[in-house]
Amino acid sequence: MEGESQSFLERAIALAVANARNSDGGPFAALVVKDGRVIAEGVNLVTSANDPTAHAEVVAIRAACRALGHFQLEGCEIYSSCEPCPMCLGAIYWARPARVYYAATAADASQAGFDDSFIYRQIALAHGVSGGLNAPIGAPASNNFTGNSGRAFMFDSRYAQYPE
Ligand SMILES: [Zn+2]
Repeated sequence: MEGESQSFLERAIALAVANARNSDGGPFAALVVKDGRVIAEGVNLVTSANDPTAHAEVVAIRAACRALGHFQLEGCEIYSSCEPCPMCLGAIYWARPARVYYAATAADASQAGFDDSFIYRQIALAHGVSGGLNAPIGAPASNNFTGNSGRAFMFDSRYAQYPE
């Protein structure tokens, strides 16, 4: 990693640490950089904003798109303190930056109590699986929510705990 990229990543980490200390949200932050200049910063605001989608990457993407007056981040780089969760990864794909750098891995986040592996298990099941809304993940699909040709997204809220 080049020195400039390293310093953007270090900035994201510093923002993440400060965010956790301020109790604004989880220890996560992200920057959007274009042409070597930071155009937006985002921190996790889930608990302070009571917004489960206010992950650092989403907050940064929204701010960057506002700053650019465009719905895509063409030619931009995202620097995140942590490997993006599935929601943020989806948002990143829709925003289409040129590159994403991250510091901690999803495994590191899991160790700290922020485990998103249940979502990846869910994604692996989602397509073409029919079942009730509360069907346990991994259980055989019981077709009580949609017709035979329909598709349901099985969701088990036991796995969706945000660490306090
Ligand atoms: Zn996320």
